[in-house]
Amino acid sequence: MKLVADCHFHTISSGHAYSTISEYAKEASGKGLALIGMTDHGPKMPGGPHRYHFDNLRVIPGVLYGVEIYKGIEANIVDFDGSLDTEGLIPEEMDIVISSFHSPCLAPSTMKENTKAIIKSMEKRYVNIIGHPDDSRVPIDYTELAKAASEYGVLVEVNNSSLKPTSFRKNAAENYRMLLEECYKNKVYVIINSDAHIHTDIGDSDAALEVVRRSGFPEELIANADLLRLKQRLGLRRR
Ligand SMILES: [Zn+2]
Ligand SMILES: [Zn+2]
Repeated sequence: MKLVADCHFHTISSGHAYSTISEYAKEASGKGLALIGMTDHGPKMPGGPHRYHFDNLRVIPGVLYGVEIYKGIEANIVDFDGSLDTEGLIPEEMDIVISSFHSPCLAPSTMKENTKAIIKSMEKRYVNIIGHPDDSRVPIDYTELAKAASEYGVLVEVNNSSLKPTSFRKNAAENYRMLLEECYKNKVYVIINSDAHIHTDIGDSDAALEVVRRSGFPEELIANADLLRLKQRLGLRRR
């Protein structure tokens, strides 16, 4: 299986990433990707971009080096009611809004509370991806998550970075095995993303594809295995 897009990566604007949008686009072009989604961290991430970074996304061309550029944010969940750090921004005008749980922005609680925070964030009509729900330090009820993702038409991410041996997230492979089973049962579409923090990692998906293959998860439910399917699934939350 060949993926056509990577919809989660960080530029130098995120504060702890090391490449520019131009470097990412060039690298993606060389790797044959059709589309990449720039999703710098929301403003509440320590060292993260100022609000103006997101206000000015329009200056980035829609195509760079022949690669379509989607513009968005990896927003931080900031409380257990699912609030995101998009205050003062216009997230509904961004192509991609990932909702992610990051401990520096919200300390993890019980499985029940963590799950509630994520599901409440999905109720916002502009959220179209749930980022890396794969870390045993942030326990999540995968049955509830998959049911909500199905109800709201939100994509569930399989994050390649979480599956690398160098990842600080815990137990991602086993967590994805459980999560993919629930996604399959509920016919939830997933998206495989690199979560690159340097351009050389854009499009990296080997570890995620291996987990997906071992789970027997069908290609038809992988949003970024097909460009039209991807745009349609992301667009569900833009009407
Ligand atoms: Zn993240
Ligand atoms: Zn990220």
